[in-house]
This record gives sequence, C-alpha cells and structure tokens, in this order.
Amino acid sequence: MPSILIVEDEKTIVDILAFNLKREGFETAAAYDGPTGLEMALSGQYDLVLLDVMLPGMDGFEILRRLREKSDVPVIMVTAREEERDKILGLETGADDYVTKPFSVKELSARVKANMRRTGGGVRTETGDRVSFGPFVVDRALHTVSKNGAELELTQREYDILTYFLSLPVRVVSREELMEKVWGFDYYGDLRAVDVAMRRLREKLEDDPADPQFILTKRGQGYYLKR
Ligand code: CA
Repeated sequence: MPSILIVEDEKTIVDILAFNLKREGFETAAAYDGPTGLEMALSGQYDLVLLDVMLPGMDGFEILRRLREKSDVPVIMVTAREEERDKILGLETGADDYVTKPFSVKELSARVKANMRRTGGGVRTETGDRVSFGPFVVDRALHTVSKNGAELELTQREYDILTYFLSLPVRVVSREELMEKVWGFDYYGDLRAVDVAMRRLREKLEDDPADPQFILTKRGQGYYLKR
C-alpha cells in the first residue's frame, strides 16, 4: 500500500488528510514539526511527502532543500499564502507540485495520485510499446524511462509530460496545451507550474540541463522534444 508522510503542525488538518487519504487507499504517517518531518522524510519509507511551509523548528523550504540533497521522493508543498506559492514557483525548490490552503480534499487526492512515484503504486496501467529516441527508451507497458540502459526516476507528472510529447509528431507544444493535456482542466495552478516541471524533467534527462539536446524551448511559443 502506498505510504504518504504528512508534515503539518495543525493536528486538525493532519487528521482530515489522514482520514481522506486512508479512504483513498493510502497509508499515512504524520510529523508535527520540521526536524521530525525531515528525519522521517529521509527514512525512505514514504512514496510521497505532503509538506507544509510554516512549521515549528524548520520551515518547509529548508526541509525540502535538505531532503533534495539525498532524496528524490515526490513532494507536494502545502502553502498558506500567495507569497509562499510564488516562492515555490520562483525558486529551484525541487517541489513536484503545490496546493494552496484552503484546498479541497478531492483536489489534494488527485494531486497525490498524479505525483505518486511511478513505482509507488496507485499508478495507471497502460498497454503499449517501447519508444526510443536518443539514449532513451520509454516503455509504456512497464511505465519506465531509461537512459543508456539505466532507469530514470521520474514522477508520474514527468512521465506524463514525456509520453505526451512522444504521442505527437515533433512540434512545438505551448504551455497552455501542456497544462490542459497533462495537468487537466481541473488543475487550478498557473502556467509557471509547467515551466517548473519542464525544468525538472530537463535536469533528469539532459547531460547538461543548461545546454539541452532533447527538451528545447521555442521562445515565446513553448517546448518541443527533439528525437
Ligand atoms: Ca503550519
């Protein structure tokens, strides 16, 4: 059963989240302060971390920074204010997604499922074939992406972005189109979330993310995948 760590100091919120996530088939654990949250997140026992920003002992940004030195576990930041949301989008925080309080439990569950690590369960099964380009092989049946034979750790969202590009002829895809096709109409975020996700995907796929060979930007128009 996929397991989710909730790092949140407001016990009522933890209880509501835990109740609803359990109903959706997830196991949950909770940490009520920053240092405990970091220690538990680093244990490697969880498939996804829900991370509040304002926490006693250490804030969510610092936890994420330290966590990312050692772990690629999917993290959804839970923000209370516009400025926190802007910070997540504006900085290289390494968050996979974010939700803004107050959030609906339904929305949050959808985000959790979308960001769950592919191997962590709760993932969609697809039948399909293998597509290769450059040093990459995308296996739609196994839901894996490998580079020079080594499997890459992509989040569900990153995998969805990549397979969306591969489902199309080579062409420029606008951020709006990516938002609509990959995030879906019910996503309440803004287009900068697309840029953040593309940057993360580039960091995982490219030898030199500053000089990308596969995920290219067409200024003012969007992105395309060279293959
Ligand atoms: Ca808090």
